[in-house]
Order: sequence, then C-alpha cells, then structure tokens
Amino acid sequence: MSVNLQTPIDYLKGVGPNRADLLRSELDIKTYQDLINLFPNRYIDRTKYYKINELQRNNAEVQIIGVITGFKEVAQKRGKRLVADFKDETGMMELVWFRGQKWIRESLKIGQPYVIFGKTNWFSGKYSIPHPEIELQSEHNNNLRSAMQAIYPSTEKLSNKGITNRVVTKIMQQLFLETKGRFIETLSDSTKNELKLVSKSDALFNIHFPKTPEQLSRAQFRLKFEELFYIQLQLILKNLIHKSKIKGFPFDKVGDYFNSFYNNHLPFELTNAQKRVLKEIRQDLGSNAQMNRLLQGDVGSGKTIVAFMSILMGLDNGFQCCLMAPTAILSAQHYNGLFELCKPLNISISLLTGSSKTSERKKIHENLENGSLQILIGTHALLEDKVKFKNLGLAIIDEQHRFGVAQRSKLWHKNTSPPHVLVMTATPIPRTLAMSVYGDLDISVIDELPAGRKPIKTVHRFDNNRLKVFKFMKDEIAIGRQIYIVYPLIQESEKMDYKDLMDGHESISREFSMPDYQISIVHGKMKPADKDYEMQRFVKGETNIMMATTVIEVGVNVPNASVMIIESAERFGLSQLHQLRGRVGRGAEQSYCILMTSHKLSQDSKTRLETMVRSSDGFEIAEVDLKLRGPGDIMGTQQSGVLNLRIADIVKDKDILEQARYYAKNILKLDSSLALPEHRVILDTYRQMSKYRNIWNYIS
Ligand code: ADP
Ligand code: MG
Repeated sequence: MSVNLQTPIDYLKGVGPNRADLLRSELDIKTYQDLINLFPNRYIDRTKYYKINELQRNNAEVQIIGVITGFKEVAQKRGKRLVADFKDETGMMELVWFRGQKWIRESLKIGQPYVIFGKTNWFSGKYSIPHPEIELQSEHNNNLRSAMQAIYPSTEKLSNKGITNRVVTKIMQQLFLETKGRFIETLSDSTKNELKLVSKSDALFNIHFPKTPEQLSRAQFRLKFEELFYIQLQLILKNLIHKSKIKGFPFDKVGDYFNSFYNNHLPFELTNAQKRVLKEIRQDLGSNAQMNRLLQGDVGSGKTIVAFMSILMGLDNGFQCCLMAPTAILSAQHYNGLFELCKPLNISISLLTGSSKTSERKKIHENLENGSLQILIGTHALLEDKVKFKNLGLAIIDEQHRFGVAQRSKLWHKNTSPPHVLVMTATPIPRTLAMSVYGDLDISVIDELPAGRKPIKTVHRFDNNRLKVFKFMKDEIAIGRQIYIVYPLIQESEKMDYKDLMDGHESISREFSMPDYQISIVHGKMKPADKDYEMQRFVKGETNIMMATTVIEVGVNVPNASVMIIESAERFGLSQLHQLRGRVGRGAEQSYCILMTSHKLSQDSKTRLETMVRSSDGFEIAEVDLKLRGPGDIMGTQQSGVLNLRIADIVKDKDILEQARYYAKNILKLDSSLALPEHRVILDTYRQMSKYRNIWNYIS
C-alpha cells in the first residue's frame, strides 16, 4: 500500500510538532506532498575534498578533512565566540561558533579526524569557517551521501531553530524511505517516450539525491516540462472551453463598407503583417466563437487601420462597434482620425469622454439605443451603465495595460451575448511571457513597420552636454520641426517630479524665449481642458516644444515632431523609454531621441540606455527588459501564475516552454476532452489540479 501524500508533515518520523509548525509557517509545507515538492535551489559537489593550502579568498563552500587541535574562547563586543584550531597536513585554519558553544565544546573531540564543510572567510591572515557542518570522518563515510548535495530554500528562522540543510536532507531521506520513493506517474507514456523523459519517481529521487550532473539535469528537465505543460494545458483548455461555450456573433459577410474602403479609400498599401493580422481577425469574426484576441504591434506599426477595418466587418454585418482608449487625448485622436475615414463611407461615429457635455451625452445614449450610431469611441466613460448599445458586435481596447480585466468584462455585459473583443497593445510582450500570461487569448503580431520609415537616431548624453543639446534643438526648430521634452513621473515623488518639470520649464523658457519660440507644457496637475488646449496647440504646430511628464506616453500622434528628449532617462523603465521614443519618427523626416542622464548610473541603467541606443526593435527590447526585471515586474503578469513557478523559469527555460505548449496543443487537438485511455493520466492530474492553487500540490 502506498503512503497517502496528503498526510500531514507532523507524522513523518523525525519531524514532530515543533518542526512541523516551523515548516508550515516558514516554507508552507503542510503535507508529505509539499515536502517532496520542496525543490533544491542549488547543489554542491561533495565528492571533492580540499587541502587547507588550496583554499582561495573567494568565499567558496569547501569540504576539508582534518583534526581539531584545541579550543579557545574569544571575548567580543557582545558575548564571546568559540574558536577551534583545525589542521590538516598542509596547514592551519579556524572554526568559529557564535551560538551553541557549550554543546559544541562538549561534543567535539580533540585529535579525532573530522570532515568539515562550510563557507570560508579570510580574516587577518587566516582562513576560518563559521558554523561549519561537522562530522566524524568515520560517520561521514558511513552516511549515504549523494555526490551532488541539494541545498534547499531556507529562512533565517529555520536555521536559527536548528532546521539546517542537513536536517531537511534527513527528513527528505525519511520521506523517501516511508514512501519507498514510488510516486504516481503524471505524464502520458507517449509524451514520456517521445521526449525521452525519466519517470516521475526517478525525477523526484534525482532532484533530491542526484549522483551525477546528468541525472540531475534529466530530472530537472522532466519536472520543468511537467510544470510548464500543465500550465499550458490549462490555458489552452480555457481558450477551447471559452470558444465552445461562448457563442459570438458570426460576421459572415464581407460587405460594402469593407470592400468600398479597401478598394477606394485605403490611404496606403497595407503591410504584409497588417494583411496577415486582418486575416486572422477575419477568421475569428467569421466563426461561431467569440473572438478574444490580443493584437501586439510596436508603436507606429499601424494598429489603428487594422482596428478600423475590423470595425467595418462588424458594420457590414449590421452590428455596432466601439473603441476604447485610456485617455481623453487618445480617444479624441482616434476619433478625429477615424472620423475622416468614415466620412466618405457615410458612417456615423461619436466620441464620448468624461468631459462630454450632458446634451451630447443624451444624444449619444439615444442614438446608441436606437441603433443609428454605428461607432462609439471613448474613454472609461464607455463603461458607464447608462451607455447601452442596441447591438454591440465588436469592442476594441487600445493599450490594454491601462484597463483591468474587471473593466474589460464590464464591456461584455453590455449585451445579451458578449461582443468580440480585440485588445491592442503597443508594449511588445516577449513570446514566452505572452504564452504564459495570455496563453488563453489568441495572439496576433504586427512585426513590420510601414515601408519608408527612417530609423530613429538615438543617443545618450550627460547633463553637462546640455548646451550642445540646446544648439541641436534650435537647429531642428529652425527647419520647422517640433520637439518633445519628457520628465519622469513617479507616483511616490509626484511633488519632486513636478518641481523637476517646473525647473526645467524655467530654464527652457530662458533659452527658448518668446516671441521666437513657443512652448507647451502638460502635466498631471492641470485640468483636462487646459491639458487639451496645450496639447492641441502643439498638435496644430503653434508651439515648438512640448514639455510634459509621462502623460504623453501613449499613442499621441504628431508627425511633425522629430525630436524626443527624455530627461533623467535613467529613471525610466525600458518599455517606457521605448514607448516614449515611439512618439517621434512618425513623419517623413529623420527623427532623434536624446536620453539625458547624470553621470551616476547603476549597472542596470547603463544596460537600459545601451539597449535603447543599439536597438529599435520592440521585441528585442522587451526581451532585455524581461531579463533585467524578471517576469514579476513586467506589467500584467502580477496576477498570473507565471510567478508561482516552482522549478521552471520562463526566461531561462524558454525552449522547454515552447515544447510544453506544443505538446499540450497537440494532445488537445487530438483529444480535446482528454477522453482517450492514453490521456487518462493527464485528465486525472488535470482534475486534481483544479482543486489546488499551486500546481505542485496536485502534480505528485
Ligand atoms: P500604432 O500601431 O502605434 O497605433 P498607428 O496606427 O497610429 O500606429 O499608425 C502610425 C502611422 O502610420 C499613422 O500615421 C498611420 O496612418 C501610418 N500607417 C499605418 N499603416 C501604414 C501603412 N501600411 N503604410 C503607410 N503608413 C501607415
Ligand atoms: Mg495607437
């Protein structure tokens, strides 16, 4: 009979109530299962023994055989420390204890060979090891010790209370004894065979007690694959269930609006990427399932026209469509742009924002409900309960990070049946991250910029080069260009940022004084109407310079602006820098981005600046960002499971992730309900999985 892995950890021999409490509170280990899934952080090679004269000043963990020749107590600021002289045939060193001295003193014997293990310090001409692991050589030889020793995650409290790595290793051994190291298999035979994966039991044994690096890496591969496989399976299943359960409105016609626009009014030739994405969207809209698609495309890649043509598909099938943007400025810009495109087609379109007048609102509400209004553009105002559509068929959301999931779902409830949803983002998300975070959405990518764009020249300048930068600005203004100067905006230090902007404004106004130069300024403390006014002056070309905090980050389109100056650039994240740079380079002229910083730069800041100067590829920049910050800090990932990975790492284990997704997809393609006998094990595991939050609670 096998041991029930849900058994509380208290029952394991060698644990007991005190240790069980600590394991629970410190490492969240409640059951046998949790303990098995406590995967080591790293491993050390315990087959190697050092001589004292081989030690180096690198703080390494070493294992040495030698004898204690004597003890002394040394007084120190608080209390005293116990020091043992330890020697082998090549030299002398010290072992040091700050705690548990009485017990150490009584149990260690002078003149007997010991094996010690620990981190070396170099201090006033001598090596020492504080609190070494220590055992008699005779015992050491008897203990079954794997060559690569696992080092487990721990906490200060655990080690202070005596639950050292050695203790954890011992209770892990006990667990394998009691369970005989036999665990239920959780992957199908065919997957295991095809990928030559080791069995579950082998993997678990070798992750804890590997004898060779090869065994370890096979165990790691199997467990990482498994972890990623079940996450992908879950995401893909969610997507499939969604598609089969939630019926969308099939837009089966390609009608007059679309054709007329495509044939007569398209202002430019679409890029191949735009064409491909439109096809993907068209396929979704034409099917019976509700579309739930994420459209990624770098700034300037031309997402708006794709949005508009998708809207035309909706209109051709008699539905209303809406487009929601995160700010009033952006909504207005979309409205103005689309209004022009709608004119020749005779399509009705309105703009609704927080500052729309009551009479306007009333009219919009009315026309929406009676169906005479075909397209509604706007901000969050679209989500208000009063806004009711006659038949909303497609909702497009621009810049999705600004909207929460809850807000998105609000749009759904504006109908008896949810509209198709297209979410557009200009923040390129690395593929692996997208697969994990948005794995339940379908993803389209515009990975090509319209032809003829000149790459933006990006440079890094230190603050003391400002005069040269001013000169450059004047030259650009003289040939008719406009310039952005952006200051950081960080919530916590809003006051300071405001001051930075104001100080900057003062010095810029002095250098670029009226009436020769006109300056706009926009910041978070201004009334929306004032912001709008200032923005409009710049859009119309009435001002030469736009000074702003990051409020202009998203979407603003002023093709004549050709210089982006970012102040305190070291304070911006990579994706933000890239977004800001995307404000220029929208016209035919050569554009520039100047990153201004002080001389004091951290290593990460340097990497960010170098990346910006070197690359203009949003996806490449996003990959660097992911490496620098880890998935935890990338927007939108916080709520998703990617952070709770136990063993895999979505940055380092990209290839395994791709494989896992591929297998999960193929299995579901063949057998979407996991009904085949060979998939029984996957179904069982998957069912267990839905009971628990952390996937490793079910996987063993
Ligand atoms: P984003 O993806 O950042 O929202 P936009 O949709 O605002 O980009 O497009 C940026 C600019 O490029 C706009 O002025 C748009 O008219 C233009 N544009 C879009 N697609 C093309 C294309 N295929 N050829 C030429 N210009 C294009
Ligand atoms: Mg846009």
